[in-house]
Amino acid sequence: MGRIFTEQFAFSAGDSVLVIGLGRFGSAVAQSLVRLGHDVMGLDSDSERVQLWADKLTHAVQADSTKENVMLQLGAADFSHAIVAIGGDIAASLLTLMVLTELGIKDIWVKALDHDHGQLAKKMGAHHVVTPEADMGERVAHLITGRLIDFIEFDDGFAIAKIHAPSITHHKTLMESRVREQFGVTVVGVKRTNTDFQHATPETSVEPGDLLILSGPTRKIELFASGTQ
Ligand code: ADP
Repeated sequence: MGRIFTEQFAFSAGDSVLVIGLGRFGSAVAQSLVRLGHDVMGLDSDSERVQLWADKLTHAVQADSTKENVMLQLGAADFSHAIVAIGGDIAASLLTLMVLTELGIKDIWVKALDHDHGQLAKKMGAHHVVTPEADMGERVAHLITGRLIDFIEFDDGFAIAKIHAPSITHHKTLMESRVREQFGVTVVGVKRTNTDFQHATPETSVEPGDLLILSGPTRKIELFASGTQ
């Protein structure tokens, strides 16, 4: 959960990246990589998509990524990173992954439609799997139903969240409200209106209207944010 927000596209400046599938996700990744100074080849089987992105990427080619000989001819094996951003067609996504592993690409990312697609991709050799729709759906659900203003969850149910300071913390220092002992969450920072975020110390006082940055188990953060133990 939350992987899209935690796994960085940790590429070195100037790395070459092959982005396969120029739909909404692939084109957004490709554009960001270009902005970050990478050499990006976008590839799509749809000529209109290729034309749309041709002058915004370093290269854009029309090809079927499931065909190993075609990919070999295009020099796909020379890229340091590849991203399979084919969402809807799981067979095409996994076949493309097979081709990329056959070509020996060292860093392959796959955008998976759901958990099962992601599991299969991992088993078949993907180095990283992202599930943006599922992750964002879960994130939005937390934001809608809970008292969390912003929230990043890591794989193991551990999260960092921004919340309105619950009333139990008002007019007290963090030492006095004993947030960590009572609730099992750590206040990392506190923000008061018109001031910057301050790193929290035991002496930091909290007033109504303050925002807190917390870290801890997601469930405990939710309980703390709702003012219950
Ligand atoms: P998104 O949800 O990010 O918009 P889509 O699944 O709609 O993603 O887009 C995937 C893109 O992948 C489409 O532009 C489609 O033409 C392309 N695509 C699908 N199959 C292949 C393939 N075998 N080779 C190359 N591109 C493909």
